[in-house]
Amino acid sequence: MIDLKDSRAIVCGSSRGIGFACAEAIAGCGATVTLVARNEASLEAAREKLPSGAGQSHDFVCADFTDPPGLREAVANHLESIGPVNILVNNTGGPPSGPLVDAAPDAISSAISNHVICYQLLVQVVVPGMAVLGWGRIINIISTSVIAPIRGLGVSNTTRGAVANWGRTLAGELGPMGITVNNILPGYTDTVRLGGLIKKKAERAGKSEAEVIEDIKAEIPVGRLAEAREIGAVAAFLASPAASYVNGVNLPVDGGRTAWQ
Ligand code: NAD
Repeated sequence: MIDLKDSRAIVCGSSRGIGFACAEAIAGCGATVTLVARNEASLEAAREKLPSGAGQSHDFVCADFTDPPGLREAVANHLESIGPVNILVNNTGGPPSGPLVDAAPDAISSAISNHVICYQLLVQVVVPGMAVLGWGRIINIISTSVIAPIRGLGVSNTTRGAVANWGRTLAGELGPMGITVNNILPGYTDTVRLGGLIKKKAERAGKSEAEVIEDIKAEIPVGRLAEAREIGAVAAFLASPAASYVNGVNLPVDGGRTAWQ
């Protein structure tokens, strides 16, 4: 049920972290993956690490989510050479941290552009091909701030709510075409981004980074941070035939933290 051998996937923000873990899990189920991020050398290194046991030949596209028309063009051109894809994972770097009340309006516009506008453009590029195939999976990597805002992540909290409702609206519109759209809400996941957020939080609170990590773990019923591969595994499930009746959900993958708030 999680055999993706005949599938082609585009996984964004995938040179490292959660995006790479999604690509790795989806490739591990047999799909051929196109990675998308900014840096060619990082993408090449990530591509080489992807499983290819089903004989797949993975590739990548260099594109920047701060340039929506450039991103759209790069991915559309790539699709012209590889043909339609049936899996899209929308993901990119998160907005800077800080209280919302101090955020410049431009920071909110940029985050909405990087997340909502870019994801919208990507969906418009892939959906015609998915419609012809009669089978598609769109998976959005968001955050548990969709359920409850996270202190100190004002711009992110604002943007994530918009992405979540955008995704669930598409789930309703695209379901009749055989395309499901689901939102993954990762909890605290051990990546470079989380490391940066913990460092800033420690500086603001006058604590060590280890103390901040202990504070975070104390809120999580399973008592630890997530590994990125635990988010990737859920993306592979949602991408697969096993998830054929899952559509329009906000799925926390957070060790039970939001259930326990
Ligand atoms: P990360 O910073 O480790 O990785 C981000 C990936 O996106 C990298 O491959 C990076 O190169 C790429 N990227 C960043 N900016 C880009 C741009 N402008 N154009 C193209 N590619 C770009 O982050 P992560 O921890 O893997 O998080 C991924 C997403 O999930 C982020 O939006 C983050 O806010 C969100 N998230 C993370 C956590 C966590 O605890 N790590 C929790 C909830 C939500």
